[in-house]
Amino acid sequence: MSVRVRFAPSPTGLLHVGALRTVLYDYLLAKKQGGQCILRIEDTDRSRYNAESENEFVETLRWVGIAFDEGPHVGGIHAPYRQSERQEAGIYQKWIDELQAKGHAYKAFETSQELDEMREFQQVNKVPVGYFGGDWRDADQSKVDAAIAEGKPFVVRMRIPRNKKIVVQDAIRGRIEFDSNNLPDPVLLKADGMPTYHFAAMVDDHLMEITHVLRGEEWLPSFPIHWLLFEMFGWEPPVFVHCSVIVGKDGKKLSKRHGATRVLDYMAQGYLKSALKNFIALIGWSPGSDEEKFNEEELIARFDISGLQESPGRFDIDKLNWLNGDRIRSFTPAQVLQEIEALHAEPHTHHFWDNFEDEETLPNQPKRDGKEIWRKFDHLVQEAKVRRNYVLQCIKEEQERVTNLIEFGEACEFFLVEEPPMDSKGVEKWLKHEHVPELLQFIKSNFGNEPMTPELMKAKVIEFQESKGIEKFGVIVNPIRVAMTGKTSGPGLFELMSVLGPERIAKRAERALDLIS
Ligand code: GLU
Repeated sequence: MSVRVRFAPSPTGLLHVGALRTVLYDYLLAKKQGGQCILRIEDTDRSRYNAESENEFVETLRWVGIAFDEGPHVGGIHAPYRQSERQEAGIYQKWIDELQAKGHAYKAFETSQELDEMREFQQVNKVPVGYFGGDWRDADQSKVDAAIAEGKPFVVRMRIPRNKKIVVQDAIRGRIEFDSNNLPDPVLLKADGMPTYHFAAMVDDHLMEITHVLRGEEWLPSFPIHWLLFEMFGWEPPVFVHCSVIVGKDGKKLSKRHGATRVLDYMAQGYLKSALKNFIALIGWSPGSDEEKFNEEELIARFDISGLQESPGRFDIDKLNWLNGDRIRSFTPAQVLQEIEALHAEPHTHHFWDNFEDEETLPNQPKRDGKEIWRKFDHLVQEAKVRRNYVLQCIKEEQERVTNLIEFGEACEFFLVEEPPMDSKGVEKWLKHEHVPELLQFIKSNFGNEPMTPELMKAKVIEFQESKGIEKFGVIVNPIRVAMTGKTSGPGLFELMSVLGPERIAKRAERALDLIS
């Protein structure tokens, strides 16, 4: 049978990196095996369902480029793929009836007040908390019939066998044993007639012929319930794969402190989907070698469940930055610009920067201003519409230094404005030397008239330096850099000057001269 995997989110919030990893593994496994990847929306908890969240999932998956073979938006032979619609279609009823007929499930009529009292009693008496039978697990049929006749609301609970060792198989951890006496009888069907996750997911996994269930390790405690359900129905269980938790670099649970956890925020910050997928795939999966750079085809070719690790996967943002910068450098400037324009067109990008609050100011760095960051990024894109070739040259110069697409806005700004703001420390440190006025005059008269190659400019500047008997090249190039860019760091000086061209060079040299005169 061909591999069939499913991504089964409950749309109650944002799509975080943990879920992205699960769906990525689903996708890689299906692609590798020529199987199918299915999207199933688990929305039976109506109090928590959120339509915006479903959109968020769809948008994020569209952005990362994970397409499904079956699902609510593409259809398929097992439609519908939304559990609320499956419930309406009566798909679960038959199976809940069958479990009750086999004695594996029973109706329980406790009110929520009675359940609260039970819990309180258990807590006070320090006995295991949970529903281990209550009044209904072993109730006479006549008592049950009477409660039904009275119209009392009920849930259907699973009758977990007692005094039993439940042995399950996880693809990463192997055999795991659970003591059935520690498992309360879970609700399978709620009073509103909706199935719970435990029940709906397993019935659907069976009906949809899922061969591999990949999900987060947080589902391990419920795993014996799911395994037992397959046993009770006499169905062949799929291969269960519980992916390890993702922790920050400090080993603590991943949170905002370690960077964003919402996937769309990575997009908005200028990470490439290819770099993000490469990075995410390696959190908790090893390709069996030290290699770290993989494009999508390579990930598909190399991905294997046997490489998944039990120990927590570390989320190291420095590695993502490295992979992203590396990928940016591998592009042509035209490809980079295309990516920049696509990012600019994503509504979430502007929204993200408009609402950005810098929570991780770096030492000795001012807080980043999200609106300013967007303004410069937007400026770059607008400029590209009117002088594409010039912008492409600017991108080419900055490509070596930039780690994400958003940074191009700030990095290219000095190329694009007529009078770049002057860094006052840079002015103080470099423009106040005695030789600077003469140096700037030299720049203006030698490079301010016609275009020149970086090599020729450099040779001429060295000549100037030698003729003046100045020993350190730094006191030559740094004043020129401050005059040309307003900044103390940036791409290669002569290269950037060659891009700026004679007119801007002349104007900027003059402006710096005015500033110090
Ligand atoms: N609906 C569950 C969730 O969103 C899915 C868990 C599973 O994959 O089985 O966490």
